[in-house]
Amino acid sequence: MEERPKLLIIDDEDIVLDSCQQILVGSDYEIRTAKDGNLGVRLIEGYQPDLVFVDLKMPGISGFEVLEKINEIDPTIVTIVITGFATINSAVEAMQKGAFDFLPKPFTPDELRLITRRGLEKRNLVLETLALRREKEMLRNHFAAIVSHELKSPLAAVQQYLMALSGELSNELTEDQSRRFERIQTRIDDLMKLIHTWLRAMTVDIENIKENFAPTSIPIVVSKAVESVQPHAIRKDISIKISIQEPIKSVIGDEGTLVEAVVNLIGNSVKYSPTGSEIEVTVEEAKEQVLITVQDNGIGISKEDLPFIFEDFYTGMTKQSVERSSGLGLALTRRIIEAHSGSISVESELGNGSKFEICLPALEGHEFETSLANMNPETII
Ligand code: ADP
Repeated sequence: MEERPKLLIIDDEDIVLDSCQQILVGSDYEIRTAKDGNLGVRLIEGYQPDLVFVDLKMPGISGFEVLEKINEIDPTIVTIVITGFATINSAVEAMQKGAFDFLPKPFTPDELRLITRRGLEKRNLVLETLALRREKEMLRNHFAAIVSHELKSPLAAVQQYLMALSGELSNELTEDQSRRFERIQTRIDDLMKLIHTWLRAMTVDIENIKENFAPTSIPIVVSKAVESVQPHAIRKDISIKISIQEPIKSVIGDEGTLVEAVVNLIGNSVKYSPTGSEIEVTVEEAKEQVLITVQDNGIGISKEDLPFIFEDFYTGMTKQSVERSSGLGLALTRRIIEAHSGSISVESELGNGSKFEICLPALEGHEFETSLANMNPETII
């Protein structure tokens, strides 16, 4: 708020409007008044107030309807209701509808000044949070653009040249030179994969995901995820055990991104578990939720790392894994799960394995015919 804070007072009683103006006149606020709800709502779009006082009991449209309309026009506007008959219930109802606070009539000048100050502080906080969120989004897009143009494109060109060159020289290279060529190619492939992960995590469009939402079977999601991680697990001689407590209601979601989320969890379990260990993936239904848990006997997560592992680019401090680490897998997983109105949590202790749990709202009255027998037997170990 760089200009003077703007207040709007909507009340059908002249005495309230006049006294509010008189009380606040010395403060550096711009104040407008409206004698009924319709007039007040009409004023809002042009005037763009920071704080609106709304009388709950007015002829014509009620204070509650005014609150709803303000919320539709601009949900960042802070509203305070003026309650005539001091009915605490209606004040509570108003606050449930988004009002910031209430001011019971009659009120003293100090009460009005104080609540106005608090309302404007709240408005500042709301605007700051919004600005920070926009800045974060801009940084995210900016980062994606830089990675894409400045890194991915030139690296793809290098990869192309290298492939052509190694083809042309294939008959002339010594064994050692060929091995070094391969190493360069592998490193570049790894870098391309890393860049792909960054771009995926930075640009995954949650709104787009929602457009593809359809009833989705979680046992199928889990089966596809395990199938995709299997080669990695086999290389480390790790067995993945699936247990599904059928019947399981389906969820509303996008199968592809849900598979990606579960792949990230199982992939991490493989990455952070010792050779020859076991990972258990379970699917069950409880309290109208479908729960997917991925439990491993790996290195576990320290309590210092635990609060941050779902943040962008956070990689744990205990660097016991030699594998590639971008610190984006769990951040992306959480965004995918939250886009499905679900939640993800973790229990882990350093040295004692980890248990990740995804919780998704079950779709009422919708079960898929997916018994273990229908799944690809390759995925059940
Ligand atoms: P990355 O694995 O690429 O570092 P993630 O976002 O997938 O990134 O994970 C963030 C961090 O959380 C990892 O660096 C690791 O420290 C920790 N972590 C995630 N999953 C596990 C697990 N199953 N066991 C131990 N540590 C894990």
